[in-house]
Amino acid sequence: MTNEWQGLPARELTRIASSAYVARMPSPVGHALGGIIAGLLIHPPQPAARGSAAPAALADRLRPWRTTALLGLVACLPDLDFLWARHNYETHSLGAAVAAGLLVLAWTRGRGWRLALAVAAAWSTHVLFDWLGSDDSPPIGVMALWPWSTEFYFADAWLFDAISRRPWRDDFISQNVIAILKEVALLAPPAAALAWGRRHR
Ligand SMILES: [Zn+2]
Repeated sequence: MTNEWQGLPARELTRIASSAYVARMPSPVGHALGGIIAGLLIHPPQPAARGSAAPAALADRLRPWRTTALLGLVACLPDLDFLWARHNYETHSLGAAVAAGLLVLAWTRGRGWRLALAVAAAWSTHVLFDWLGSDDSPPIGVMALWPWSTEFYFADAWLFDAISRRPWRDDFISQNVIAILKEVALLAPPAAALAWGRRHR
């Protein structure tokens, strides 16, 4: 594939990518599940305390799920770069993942280092999945090693199906439903095992 698109400005590339039939990705569902898997491997949900006769308050019971939800959300955040027309640039990098982790570390005043690592890992899965995913519109791949390099990387593995952004096409729903079902089939079992496993041991 030629790299002549590399001379085009980011705004123009994002416009082309937004109008392309095939976009890179997995979907936000795939990204959220990936973030949950990587994050919970580092920051597993704690089993409920035993020995207490009183049923746990709802807030206590929901606490472990908040971490799971946070990790899923974090893994979707890199795609916010659509908002400022630099899709697949700085937010899709390991540098941004480290920055997200450092932000959590600062937020928790140095005490939440495990959560910070989990957030950095969840963010990194987005970079990994987009690197492994489908992409045939420029910029091809992700700026994975920013700020150390502004090179774009793409595995050419096409592991995840593309998500269509053309709702007027007949196959819009079928293509996206199939793509998302494949992601769920691949990623939901390990995510669920991690989310429920420790908690109910
Ligand atoms: Zn992305």
